[in-house]
Amino acid sequence: MSRGVVTEGRGRVAVVGSGPNGLTAAALLARDGWQVDVYEKNSHPGGAAASSDLLGGGTVVDLGAAGHPFGVASPAFHDLDLTSHGLRWVNAEFPMAHPLPGRPAALLHQDLDNTAFDLGRDAVRWRAVHQGLVRHIDENLANLLAPILRWPAHPVRLAGFGPVAAAPASWITGGLFQEEPARALFAGSAAHAITPLQRPLTGAFGALFGALAMTRGWPVAEGGSQAIIDALIDVLTEHGGAVHTGHEVKDLRDVGAADAVVLNLTPAQVLRLRGPAIEALRSTTRSRLGRWRYGMGAHKVDYLLDGPVPWTDPRVGDAATVHVVGSSDELIQAESLASAGRMPDRPFVMVGQQQAADPTRVVDSGQGRTVVWTYAHVPHGYTEPRQGLVTSMIEAQIERFAPGFRDRIVDRVATTPADLERWNPNLIGGDIAGGAMTGLQSLLRPGLTASPHRLPQRSAHRSGPCLYLASSSTPPGAGVHGMPGYWAARAVLDDFGRDERG
Ligand SMILES: Cc1cc2nc3c(=O)[nH]c(=O)nc-3n(C[C@H](O)[C@H](O)[C@H](O)COP(=O)(O)OP(=O)(O)OC[C@H]3O[C@@H](n4cnc5c(N)ncnc54)[C@H](O)[C@@H]3O)c2cc1C
Repeated sequence: MSRGVVTEGRGRVAVVGSGPNGLTAAALLARDGWQVDVYEKNSHPGGAAASSDLLGGGTVVDLGAAGHPFGVASPAFHDLDLTSHGLRWVNAEFPMAHPLPGRPAALLHQDLDNTAFDLGRDAVRWRAVHQGLVRHIDENLANLLAPILRWPAHPVRLAGFGPVAAAPASWITGGLFQEEPARALFAGSAAHAITPLQRPLTGAFGALFGALAMTRGWPVAEGGSQAIIDALIDVLTEHGGAVHTGHEVKDLRDVGAADAVVLNLTPAQVLRLRGPAIEALRSTTRSRLGRWRYGMGAHKVDYLLDGPVPWTDPRVGDAATVHVVGSSDELIQAESLASAGRMPDRPFVMVGQQQAADPTRVVDSGQGRTVVWTYAHVPHGYTEPRQGLVTSMIEAQIERFAPGFRDRIVDRVATTPADLERWNPNLIGGDIAGGAMTGLQSLLRPGLTASPHRLPQRSAHRSGPCLYLASSSTPPGAGVHGMPGYWAARAVLDDFGRDERG
């Protein structure tokens, strides 16, 4: 199936993969006058930002991403003016809630003052950690959403953020904050790095996710994350580009003659491709891609309930994202175990209640049915010793803070790490970040290179397309913000804009 009409451009680009990064690169290049064709393996575009009616009966289930702190803040999405193409961001009252054992939940508000006010003795320190980011969020994003080996757009801001960013999140939770609410809020934000919180640089995630919530919110896309994809495709097709679904690319010759091929893939997949353009990759490029390591997995379970989640603290029902694990120590322990390849009994569970922000998600207001999106962090490629084990762990975790949750379940669909990878081959071993966010990999993606969105080929190779990489395995990494696609498109334009190929 093809979407859109191909028109004459200033050259032809083929994009392999229709995730948000592939489509962002495609839309930007089509807008620049290129003839762009996107090839997608699945029958449905969008990669890990797609939605479907997985639970039947008019439900909208986000198959991957659900909350979009980076989407709403993305310079690429602003540049493409996605909100003029049908995309609407909607926020719940609270961006995030973290239920705590034996006490009220910790709540992240949409502003620094209210969040700090709730945190009592930790208010001053909470402010100290976040206020530089909050006050200058745009300048900080310009630094953080760019490849690290470039001179930063705002060096003073980067220097100011450095000490918190470099620290392990566990130091900040344990050493700086005195009480559990601030510890849990910070650790839960840092857990989006999907790496042990004792690792350097996890402090950056804790501070940045919190700062985004307190400035831009953690919105969902009205009608489903698919709305982001639909808006990107709208821009693409408006400029003559096309998406060809049901077209898995195994050999780059399958995409026809092109000046450039943008690969919306992770390194292991690039190395599995065939064709002269791939064979022409420099040996240094091959070995850099070959050294790439994948991280923890996700095990997803989507629920249809016959009513809202019966949270002990009812305010949690007004949060779009809920971190369910217990105390910050339990969180740190769970992430360490999963990263070390051992399944924790009480895993970290991300819960999405999109309908708290988006009334269009309510299935049938007469029956009050609710869709709840969850996933647990599990070891890379985790296979359950008995089917349903992780589902039962997720339910036990939610029951701790919402007794009676199980009684409300009408239907559920579990998606294991292997299922995720079968659906979207970029999710290797269930890794939703395109590669482990550990050590230098969190900064240098994929590996040490000054030009992460190009795949250099041997200079003898002149006849085939130039290759580019636009996935979450390139800077600035995972999340639905399209910035890897933006930087890959910039690389194409830099290379061809001056018409150097001649
Ligand atoms: C369960 C889950 C929850 C998440 N939650 C969030 C969240 O709440 N917020 C957030 O910001 N991010 C979240 N993420 C991460 C986010 O979805 C990803 O970082 C983002 O989608 C990466 O975009 P991408 O374009 O690089 O790749 P992907 O979205 O993975 O898209 C890659 C595309 O390439 C296609 N493809 C692969 N191989 C081929 C081939 N050979 N030929 C043709 N097509 C091919 C795939 O089918 C897929 O459509 C989540 C991801 C998952 C899976």
